Amino acid sequence: MKRAKKIYLDYAASTPVDPGVVLAMEPYWNKIYANPGAIHICGQESIKAIDEARETIQKFLGAEAPREIIFTGSATEANNLAIRGVVVGKTGASLIAATPAGSVILDSARRAFRDKGAEPRANDAPVLLPRVITSAIEHSSVLEPIRALEKEGLVEAVYLDVNQEGLIDLDELKKALSKNTVLVTIGYANNEIGVIQPIDEVAKIIRDFKKTPKPLVSSSQLPVFHTDAVQAIQFLETDVEKLGVDMMTISAHKIYGPKGIGALYVRDGLSAQAGIRLEPIIYGGEQEYGLRSGTENVPLIVGFAKAIEILAAWKKNSKNIQKVQNLRDYLWDNLAVRPPFGGRTAKKISINGSLDKRLPNFLNVFIPTIDDETFLIALSEQGVCVSSGAACASRSQKPSHVIGALGRKREGCNLRISLGRDTTKGELDIFMQIFLSVGNGIR
Ligand code: PLP
Repeated sequence: MKRAKKIYLDYAASTPVDPGVVLAMEPYWNKIYANPGAIHICGQESIKAIDEARETIQKFLGAEAPREIIFTGSATEANNLAIRGVVVGKTGASLIAATPAGSVILDSARRAFRDKGAEPRANDAPVLLPRVITSAIEHSSVLEPIRALEKEGLVEAVYLDVNQEGLIDLDELKKALSKNTVLVTIGYANNEIGVIQPIDEVAKIIRDFKKTPKPLVSSSQLPVFHTDAVQAIQFLETDVEKLGVDMMTISAHKIYGPKGIGALYVRDGLSAQAGIRLEPIIYGGEQEYGLRSGTENVPLIVGFAKAIEILAAWKKNSKNIQKVQNLRDYLWDNLAVRPPFGGRTAKKISINGSLDKRLPNFLNVFIPTIDDETFLIALSEQGVCVSSGAACASRSQKPSHVIGALGRKREGCNLRISLGRDTTKGELDIFMQIFLSVGNGIR
């Protein structure tokens, strides 16, 4: 029997739109609707709204200039722009041009890829492609563009492993940085386990590396450091100067804004410095400083900025974040002591990834001897909405690459439970009741 009241604990997948955001967007559907590219006064109203929104986000991220904020159709698109933009843009091209054999190197790499398994030909130059460093647990919108570039023979990629806690090894990063590295992209907080990477330390390592002479790379700005901060932005430091990042991805629908709008922070220095320029992935009318063509989605842009404004006020009061964390800890304290289910097994529920270095609203638990899908469906029938991993991948039924990277390939269920700003203790109590009764029922 289905429950009438839902218990939603999947805020990492998406959040409701804040009523203040809905209100802010309203005039932009049918009152202020002119194309922001139009010169007339109606168009100017639209462009003014975009300018103001860009400035709000610029200030929130501590960026130097509004033009460093590029609006995109999603965080997925922002990640694609960041990665492909650096590699295909002047960055990768300048690296190849700086090598004595020029484009021969790229061609040979392409051939090597196509003739997979074939021996390199004697007259081929050694393959030296632009290198991209990332981690094995990134969101698919980071991993897949990198894999696509690998398939095209345009990059070599290094996927840093994580330890059982879900953390990258900074010494491995140091070792992976090479004279042909053009991009390092490391997610700030993971979307499945909520584990937080030491982004400021990664930035420092890259900064130090930049000071070393690199004969193949013409620009002292390389490698570029990008972080996907989609999950982190709600709870952690996001000042780009303090963090030392060159590019940062954010998304509105994880912070009580609308779906279908993201942004990429791109340090202005990147375009100003010789040898570094992002190449767009969408071509056309050159909106968004030429980096994202297509008529701007004014209502969603305005909604995004309003969500940021509300978030900034919410973050200022540290009690808000503490409240979410206390509830998360309450939930974990209660789940951790339970043998699953009905005490038939001595094995306890355990946590996936570090507990300390984790977003305050995140839990990802491993429940032995129960099947992911069966449990999720049974919980859902009781009105409980949680997830087994990334929302976008959860229908694919593929095992999670994140849980796999932690070295946990045991039989069982991995459940992501993510809390929202307004989650209550009462909801968690009901969740725990259902969790136990459903678990016992399907054992
Ligand atoms: N990056 C991370 C870490 C995410 O959690 C998500 C959403 O699940 C995305 C990127 C993609 O965001 P969007 O839905 O805006 O494309």
